[in-house]
Amino acid sequence: MVEHGPLFGAMLQEFEGAARILNLEPGIWKTLTHPKRQIIVSCPIQMDNGEIEVFTGYRVQYNITLGPAKGGIRYHPGVNLDEVTALAAWMTWKCAVAHIPFGGGKGGVICDPTTLSRRELEALTRRYIAEIIDAIGPEKDVPAPDVNTNEQIMAWVMDTYSMHVGHTETAVVTGKPLELGGSLGRREATGRGVMIVARESAKHVGFDIKGATVAVQGFGNVGSISAELLAGIGAKIVAVCDWKGGVYNPKGLDVTQLIAHVAQHKTVEGFAGADALDNAQLFKLDVDILIPAALENQITMDNAPAIRAKVLVEGANGPTTPDAHRHLHERGVFVVPDILANSSGVTTSYFEWVQDRYGYFWTEKEVNERLEAKMCEAFNAVLKTAIKFKVDMRTAAYIVAINRVATVTRLRGMYA
Ligand code: NAD
Repeated sequence: MVEHGPLFGAMLQEFEGAARILNLEPGIWKTLTHPKRQIIVSCPIQMDNGEIEVFTGYRVQYNITLGPAKGGIRYHPGVNLDEVTALAAWMTWKCAVAHIPFGGGKGGVICDPTTLSRRELEALTRRYIAEIIDAIGPEKDVPAPDVNTNEQIMAWVMDTYSMHVGHTETAVVTGKPLELGGSLGRREATGRGVMIVARESAKHVGFDIKGATVAVQGFGNVGSISAELLAGIGAKIVAVCDWKGGVYNPKGLDVTQLIAHVAQHKTVEGFAGADALDNAQLFKLDVDILIPAALENQITMDNAPAIRAKVLVEGANGPTTPDAHRHLHERGVFVVPDILANSSGVTTSYFEWVQDRYGYFWTEKEVNERLEAKMCEAFNAVLKTAIKFKVDMRTAAYIVAINRVATVTRLRGMYA
């Protein structure tokens, strides 16, 4: 076993629980718990003051058995190899649960992008991509945005790669602006997937989504869009919290007006016709569906015992600690795990890659219809597995993912 840190250790724990149930043979077990490739690069950049700074960048391709590595690029001072490797492993399982032909990857650069000028950010992006250029490409590894990276940065990634290979290659990266090969529906994709699995969970648990009450923590891309789409199918969004405060109206919040309020005030706080509430109060509400869509480790043993929701849909990555998850499952709360609940972001990235390679672009309706089909397929596969093995949905999602990668590994055989 290669040396690893706490985040990769957490990934291994989740892996082992499912691998044991699957009775995974030792050889495949060892293969799937080692990253295929870890790349560390130094990126010297001339700063605006004329001095040279050297930034460290990583790209990890955890597993490429099912297809090219897929995963975002993160710009953050806290980036490290343990984090990038664990996130690349989680992308492997997420792509496998979503049933798309991708492996798992992740990249990151240790930097504080808030202190960089636009020119410095562009120079850093281009140099980082130039340093890893031999390892990426539409057939090899397809990056995407993550924390502190965006459409513009993906446009620079695409341009740098294209300049090196001598032709325009849009399929090297996803999350691009629409004008250069981005996909319609990508911005709304994760929230749309959260809405779909919440709706399917209500069916399974046995309540009507029409009139079901919903509380959402976080009102950014994932939180606001899932709230808007759930309201669109008749659910009642009664509470929303963000970084600054929260709002509550038991009769239901007008989500479209709330989005307009946030566009103006940068927070839900102060929205007319609602009472104030905080995160702690939001988690305690007697609602049908609770959606954490903000940060990791929000639901812990400090607040899980007070949660009264029937269904918890993890829009965010890692919002529930393992002990809180165990507690909720034992109490009968139906938890839809992050690697399933928010996988529609990467599924739509797959659609973007397909459209770029095809050179033919789908309407938003086509994207949404295909996403609906893929999300329902993934949800049903995980639910069937949870019932078959009498396990929670998180363990079931890992079982589905590991089984898919293990099956293909066996079929391909060991080279050498
Ligand atoms: P975002 O930055 O658009 O929104 C985050 C929201 O969380 C904001 O409303 C912010 O105010 C709120 N927030 C921050 N701190 C908070 C706190 N302490 N209490 C309550 N709310 C707080 O981010 P996003 O893209 O919506 O991502 C949210 C989560 O979903 C993250 O865990 C992300 O990794 C995950 N995710 C996002 C996507 C995607 O496509 N955007 C895909 C998969 C997973």
